[in-house]
Amino acid sequence: MSAQIGERQRQSRFERSDDVVVMKFGGTSVEDAAAIRRVIGIVRSRLDAQAVVVVSALAGVTDQLLEAGAAAAAGHLGSALATVRDIYVRHEELADSLVDGSAYSVLDRELRDEFRALESLLHDLEVSRQLNLKAQDHLLSFGECFSSRLVREALCKAGVKAAHVDARICIVTDGRHGQASPVWDVTELRLQQTLSPLLECGQLPVLGGFIASTCDGVPTTLGRGGSDFSAAIVAAALCAARVEIWTDVDGIMTTDPKLCSDARVIRKMSFDEAAELAHLGAKVLHPATLAPAMRENIPVYVLNSKRPEGEGTEILARARSGYAVSAITAKRKVAAVEIESVNGVDAELLRAVYAALDRHSCSVDVMERSLGRMSLLVSSTAALPAIAAELRGMAEVRWENHKALVCLVGENIRRRPEVASRAFAAVSDMDVRVVCQGASDRTISFLVEESKVEESVQRLHGIFFQQPEAARDWGGISSAFCQA
Ligand code: ADP
Ligand code: ASP
Ligand code: MG
Repeated sequence: MSAQIGERQRQSRFERSDDVVVMKFGGTSVEDAAAIRRVIGIVRSRLDAQAVVVVSALAGVTDQLLEAGAAAAAGHLGSALATVRDIYVRHEELADSLVDGSAYSVLDRELRDEFRALESLLHDLEVSRQLNLKAQDHLLSFGECFSSRLVREALCKAGVKAAHVDARICIVTDGRHGQASPVWDVTELRLQQTLSPLLECGQLPVLGGFIASTCDGVPTTLGRGGSDFSAAIVAAALCAARVEIWTDVDGIMTTDPKLCSDARVIRKMSFDEAAELAHLGAKVLHPATLAPAMRENIPVYVLNSKRPEGEGTEILARARSGYAVSAITAKRKVAAVEIESVNGVDAELLRAVYAALDRHSCSVDVMERSLGRMSLLVSSTAALPAIAAELRGMAEVRWENHKALVCLVGENIRRRPEVASRAFAAVSDMDVRVVCQGASDRTISFLVEESKVEESVQRLHGIFFQQPEAARDWGGISSAFCQA
C-alpha cells in the first residue's frame, strides 16, 4: 500500500488525553512584548498539562498584508514593500526585546528568509496585476508564520521547551481558498503523528493558527478569525481535555462590549448556543470552532489574556442558562435580496437560485420563501450582479445594502412568544424590515439599517439584561451571568 493511501486511512481512535490542553492566543494577545510576556506567564501556569499553543498573527498584520497585496496588484509596489517593511521592523523589534544570544540569530535569519519570500511574492503580484484568493492565502499565511516563530523563541527564552510546528504541513484542507475546510482524516493523522511525539518527550508545540495547505502543499486559510478553528481542529485530533481561546475580553458576553458597555460575561453556555452566536456575528469565536469540539465533546473556555485570573466562559455540551435570552448579536454589512419569479415557476426557480448561489460561493444568512418570491440575506454583495445575470429571464433580482442583522439567541427562544413581542416593541419606532425566527429554535432576528445597530442592540440589552421589572416577567436574569 502506498504511503499516501496508508495516510488517508483513519488511525484507530485516539484515547482521550486528560492531560492535553490547547491554548489559542489571538492577535491582541501577542500584539507587543508585554502581551507576549503575559502569554508566557499563562503558558507556564499550564505546564503541569501537555500544552499545545496556537497563535494568530500579531494584531493588525493580516489586514496590513491584505493592504500590501492589493497595492502590489494595483502596481504600487513601493507602497506594498513599505507596508511589509513596517511589519518586518515590528517583528524584529519584538525579537530583539524577547530573545537574545544565538536564539536571536536563528530567529533573525528565519524572519529575514520569510520576509524575502514575502517580498518576492509582492513582486509577482505586481507583474500579474491580480490578487486572486489563492495568491491571497499565500500572502496571508506569512502573518502566522512570523508570529508562531517569534512566540516559540520567546517561550524557549523563558525556559519552556517549545518546538515550532508548521501548521501548513499538519492541517490539510480542500482547495476552497479564503475559506478552506479540513480534510479531517488526513489532518487528524498528521497532527497526531507530528504533535504526539513532541508532547511525549515533554516539548510544547507552537503552531500558527488560520493557515493550512491542500494535499498538494498549496497554502490555504480557514477564513478570517480562523485561528480559533485551528485550535479546535488540533484539540479534536488529540482528543484534548480542553481548548482555551485567549482573547481581549473576559469571555463570551451578553453582547459585543464594543456595542454596549453594559455587556456582561456569560459564565456557561451550550455548544449549540455558542455556535449560533458565532454564526450570527459574535466575532469572539470563528463560526466553525465549535463543531470539532462538539464532535469530541471537548470543553471550550473563552478567557482574557489581559486578566488571566478571570473565570471566562465555559462552553459545554449541556450547559444551559435556563433563561430565554442568552445574548444579542449583530452582523453588519448584510444585504437584503429579493428574487421574484417572472413566470411563477417555483421549484425550478428554487433550484436555479441554489445552483447560482453555490456556483458563486455566496453564503446566505437567512432565506424565506413564498409563492414565486424569495427573500435572502447575504453577507457579501460581490457575486450578486453575476447571480442576477444568470437568473435573467427566470426572475428579477433586487438588493439593498447597508443592513445589519440583529439577533437574540437563547435555547428555545422561539417557544417564548413574549420574547419576540418585547423585542419588537423595543425597536418598533425603527425601520425594522424583517423579523425572522431561526430554524433552530434558538434565534429571533431583526433586519435594521446598519446605522441603527448600536441603538437597537443597546435597547434590546436594556430590556433583556438590565431592567429588573422586565427580567422578572420573562424569567429573570440568569445566575449564569456575572458582572464584567
Ligand atoms: P482575537 O484577536 O483574540 O481572536 P477577536 O477580535 O477576533 O479577538 O474577538 C474578540 C472581540 O470579539 C472582542 O474584542 C469583542 O469586541 C468582539 N465580540 C463580538 N461579540 C462578542 C460577544 N458576544 N462577547 C465577547 N466579545 C464579542
Ligand atoms: N490572523 C487571522 C485574521 O486576522 C486569523 C486570526 O486572527 O484568527 O483573520
Ligand atoms: Mg478572533
